[in-house]
Amino acid sequence: LASRAFKEQDTVVKVGDLAIGGQHIHVMAGPCAVESREQLLEAAALVKAAGATLLRGGAFKPRTSPYSFQGLEEKGLQYLAEAREKTGLKIVTEVMDAGTLPMVAEYADILQIGTRNMQNFFLLREVARVDKPVLLKRGASATVEEWLMAAEYIMAGGNYNVILCERGIRTFENFTRNTLDLSAVPVVKHLSHLPVIVDPSHAIGKWRFVPPMAVAAVAAGADGLLIEVHPNPSEALCDGPQSLTPENFQTLMKDVRRVAEAMGRSL
Ligand code: PEP
Ligand code: MN
Repeated sequence: LASRAFKEQDTVVKVGDLAIGGQHIHVMAGPCAVESREQLLEAAALVKAAGATLLRGGAFKPRTSPYSFQGLEEKGLQYLAEAREKTGLKIVTEVMDAGTLPMVAEYADILQIGTRNMQNFFLLREVARVDKPVLLKRGASATVEEWLMAAEYIMAGGNYNVILCERGIRTFENFTRNTLDLSAVPVVKHLSHLPVIVDPSHAIGKWRFVPPMAVAAVAAGADGLLIEVHPNPSEALCDGPQSLTPENFQTLMKDVRRVAEAMGRSL
């Protein structure tokens, strides 16, 4: 179902009035985690002003350490819904397990499956039964084929609205947090009709290198970007080192717009 051989034409995923996989490049931006009402509303206003169409922010956080901030859970989802009401931005947020799926689905416009859950086949089957688009992040050690098979689980369960997200893979290189596999963009576009977006923030892990790779992702044919932005990255509870300041995000958007237009697309 996910393959280009099965369906030749590009899939466009509708999120309300937004079309992901069409002519317009969509930027999903916001903090790693929803930390407070003030932090989220401020982030929402600034990413909207810079031209993002979707707001990201985790209410359930898959943290490496059990002692790290784990997210505001339902309170965080409520702040996301409030930010949507105030700005019109659509909401993308991670769902970590089947138990909290009904709650997350009540608030989210797009359900995010994180890299750690890409092969949680039980969870994939569950999101397949929900009438919401799914953003499927590539597993940090997943091949393109394994990633597409994960998408296949969601589609085989009846949900065809899958957006793929390249977010870096594990290699021997450790200067960057992961290695952004940009070649996956044209490869996946060749193998599949599904829209592909790129998350340079989690791939690289250092804010300084995020803007050039965001531009490169659009040049490579990505249908969108996922970018971490924080009103004050030095105070972030999660992923501060890779989060852009409001000013740096504005500059990124200007540069991305130029490349998008050169590619015959809009931002
Ligand atoms: C995220 O986007 O918040 C996240 C945790 O990303 P990943 O699953 O790619 O690590
Ligand atoms: Mn993060």
